[in-house]
Amino acid sequence: IGPRRLWFQQCPTLQAVRQVDLTVEKGESLGLVGESGSGKSTLAKLIMNLESITSGQILLSGQAVNGKQIKKRQLYKRMQLVLQDSSASLYPKMCVSEILEEPIRNYFPEENNREELCVELLKLVELDRFFLSRYPHQLSGGQKQRVCIAKALAVQPELIIFDESIASLDRPSQTSIIQMLKCIQKEKQIAYLFITHDLQSAQQLCGRISVMYQGELVETLTQLEWDFQQFQHPYSRLLFQTL
Ligand code: ATP
Ligand code: MG
Repeated sequence: IGPRRLWFQQCPTLQAVRQVDLTVEKGESLGLVGESGSGKSTLAKLIMNLESITSGQILLSGQAVNGKQIKKRQLYKRMQLVLQDSSASLYPKMCVSEILEEPIRNYFPEENNREELCVELLKLVELDRFFLSRYPHQLSGGQKQRVCIAKALAVQPELIIFDESIASLDRPSQTSIIQMLKCIQKEKQIAYLFITHDLQSAQQLCGRISVMYQGELVETLTQLEWDFQQFQHPYSRLLFQTL
């Protein structure tokens, strides 16, 4: 028996996510926190239809978006996922303009003025137009994350899921990206699901924070509730007390 087989025998019925009832309102930033292995990334993958749910529904503006009949292209037009590791999203042999033009060409084929759109996208993420000719290896970590965000914005989605997208950056860069995300949201009314281990970032960006614990969504706290320490679940208390 190899180690992989042994692992499956030890936890043959692992349910990574169960009993989750979560709503992100239009134009809202919802934080999602929880200990490592609590199911946050799995939930993101389920929402993006990268994993299949065994029961339940995922609705976007009232429309079911899970199931085999849903075309990925249609789904990605409406929701985008930004990961922690930008190398998964930025092809190293494409310069920034090619990276940004690809979704525009794909989703807005009638658009002729792609270069100008790319410049606008860079402006949104506070990067100068001279970055257009740069390749991913010529960018800093923070600049790469900004390009990933610009790439997600290029399709004009209704929802962006950030899965620890800025976790590897220093605090000032994180704060600057959070301020930028707030400005973009104000302008574009995009909903954010902001998955993080960093409560401070979540509190800066989000008006509500959902807490996951052992695969379940145990509570959703409003700013007032976390300010006044009104926690329903002991794990939330523990989590917020570490601040
Ligand atoms: P972290 O904060 O460390 O990123 P997380 O909350 O995102 O953790 P998940 O990656 O969603 O956690 O994992 C939840 C559980 O599901 C873990 O026990 C993990 O081992 C398991 N898991 C995740 N992906 C798979 C997979 N493809 N196959 C089997 N089990 C998986
Ligand atoms: Mg994760």
